Amino acid sequence: MSNFLRGLARNPTRQPQPARRSPTTPSAGQFPDIPGQNQYHGVSPSSPGKPLYLCQPFVKAALVKGSFKTIVMQPKYSERLEWIAVNIFDFFNNLNLFYGVLTECCTTATCPTMSVGPMLDYTWVDHNKRQIRLPAPTYIDYVMTWVQNLLDDEGTFPTKAGREFAPSFPTTARHVFKQLLRVFAHIYHAHYPALLHLHSEGHFNSLFAHFLAFGFEYQQLDIRDFKGVGVAALLDKWREMGVLDGLNVPPSGGSM
Ligand SMILES: [Zn+2]
Repeated sequence: MSNFLRGLARNPTRQPQPARRSPTTPSAGQFPDIPGQNQYHGVSPSSPGKPLYLCQPFVKAALVKGSFKTIVMQPKYSERLEWIAVNIFDFFNNLNLFYGVLTECCTTATCPTMSVGPMLDYTWVDHNKRQIRLPAPTYIDYVMTWVQNLLDDEGTFPTKAGREFAPSFPTTARHVFKQLLRVFAHIYHAHYPALLHLHSEGHFNSLFAHFLAFGFEYQQLDIRDFKGVGVAALLDKWREMGVLDGLNVPPSGGSM
């Protein structure tokens, strides 16, 4: 193991968090891989119309100009799993910061379901494999706590010299990407005006484009994860604009 992970998952600047464990903290096996299995097609909200994040100038707001190809390239002498782990760490922490700023506007009252598009809410799968509807803040809290606990777990994200990744790591990593995608998608779908209010749309777009570029390039995301998800349209838009040029990003195929 090189130095990438060492000193990373044990970042001293990070606030220590108690190892909270919700009664529905998922194990890897509890995320069904079959698309649509944990989706709930609810009633369309009152404002169909084009979402703001697809409109100019917001759709092209970005801190990073051009393609993300260079940024996602695996550095020489690093290992693939390590590179994936480092990036999960960064995506999680950045997304957590954004969501932290938005918690005031994401409440059980404003977001009674984990909505990610006009026709799609996600349900949570509990230990008994029952699908339960959760308010978005609860769902997101479960996701972020689950990922935080994984990052803190030496058996999942090894940081010590000589420790290797468990054989289950690739599967766990894909589940993490899938869940983080839902958090991104909820923020775009339900809280984009708040991001605009904070003048953070460029930063958030760049973070999400980086997440997409990396996720597809390293097969951590599957286009099927975007079915019914509002930001699938953003993925297509950015492909057209060249933001994802040279990367292994397929068209969403009208996933909306
Ligand atoms: Zn919300």
